[in-house]
Amino acid sequence: TNKPRIVVLGAGYAGMMTTKQLTKKLSPEEAEIVLVNKHNYHYQTTWLHEVAAGTINTNQARVMISDVINPNRVRLVYDSVVKVNKDNQKVVLENGDLDYDYLVIALGFETNTFGIKGMKENAFFIQDVDSSRQIYEHIEYQFAKYNNEENPKEESLAILVGGGGFTGIEFVGELAEQVPKLCRKYDIDPNIPRIINVEAAPSIMPGFDEELVAYAKKSLEERGVEFREGAKIAECKEDAFVVNEGEQIKAGTIVWTGGVTGNSILSKSGFELTKGKVTVEDTLLAPSEDNIFILGDCAWVMNKEEDRPYPPTAQSAIQHAGTCSTNIKALLHNEPLESFIFDNKGTVASLGKSDAMGTVFDDKKLYGKTASSMKKVIDNRWLFLLGGPKLTLKKGKFRPF
Ligand code: FAD
Repeated sequence: TNKPRIVVLGAGYAGMMTTKQLTKKLSPEEAEIVLVNKHNYHYQTTWLHEVAAGTINTNQARVMISDVINPNRVRLVYDSVVKVNKDNQKVVLENGDLDYDYLVIALGFETNTFGIKGMKENAFFIQDVDSSRQIYEHIEYQFAKYNNEENPKEESLAILVGGGGFTGIEFVGELAEQVPKLCRKYDIDPNIPRIINVEAAPSIMPGFDEELVAYAKKSLEERGVEFREGAKIAECKEDAFVVNEGEQIKAGTIVWTGGVTGNSILSKSGFELTKGKVTVEDTLLAPSEDNIFILGDCAWVMNKEEDRPYPPTAQSAIQHAGTCSTNIKALLHNEPLESFIFDNKGTVASLGKSDAMGTVFDDKKLYGKTASSMKKVIDNRWLFLLGGPKLTLKKGKFRPF
């Protein structure tokens, strides 16, 4: 057939939503839709810290793609993207090539170690389902072997988290609840394990509201989390961070959450990058391209009022999908494209199961259980958008405090 082919790369927030909306906005005769993803499941990137801390089961954090996207309507290709060949409009996959007429790149983020010596080799990353569950397996193993060693080292039960941004803080919040459970499970004195967060900036969560940051810090410190602010990591060794002037902080588990950048497929495909991502047009088209959209964590979308890009979040990735699917339809109909407008619904960071903090509705500040309930509402809303009430009931968060 001569139907134009739309290829969506990545089944994260942006890719799943774009695909879903294309199936609603276009008739099957108008275009063929292909969704390419590494795995046959979509995972909740915003829950990966919970997988890494062992708070939730891996399966709660993932959804089979064919459960929410009709495979009769969308061709589902489970393969890894190697690069995009713009010159001949082909996507190179590990197991073959795919031609496109319209392309949507929504391949998400990659961990950035900023070249810190030893970080890539010695630290774990909260990158995807596989890397996150490996972190929990490793932590549990440290606890399981402790009482079975002739000379157990107390520092083997320390967990070092590099980076005091959103992910690092949400992760130590989960750890603060999991570590006491591991102590009970493995007969370990709860005073031995340590959870240490290391941040180079003068304060954790740079750029976040100061009052909220102070709340988060107090709540986490009360539950045993130690903060090392203004501590620049010079090197990551097998069992330690080297900070500032050569001080070593030892641990049995080291996790780096200190930086992300766009998927490296962007550079392999020859896009012009700013800090690892493509600065897209208001229409979310890649600059000087008329058929390639770049969404989610692969894109910088400029906030014109503040003259800087919007922060990369699931919330904006989902909203990008609306503009992108509308604009693909417009291109197919030779109509003018619309510009992306961000609708900020606020940001809530969890600090464990029953505590959280953040802002909602025009900067109203929320703390504690109210914020925590709001966080669950936000999480469940995505499941609802993706798979309606059935999926929400199956994978949603309803546990009482
Ligand atoms: P993703 O959702 O990451 O999806 C990318 C997809 O591409 C994945 O399915 C991946 O498997 C696939 N993929 C990658 N490479 C390839 C390849 N080569 N071939 C094939 N497929 C590939 N944002 C919020 O708004 N609120 C929050 O509370 C929040 N909490 C967060 C907590 C954590 C622990 C983390 C890590 C992030 C959090 N974020 C939050 C940020 C948010 O998760 C991201 O902004 C969002 O996931 C970006 O969506 P995306 O669609 O661009 O990419």
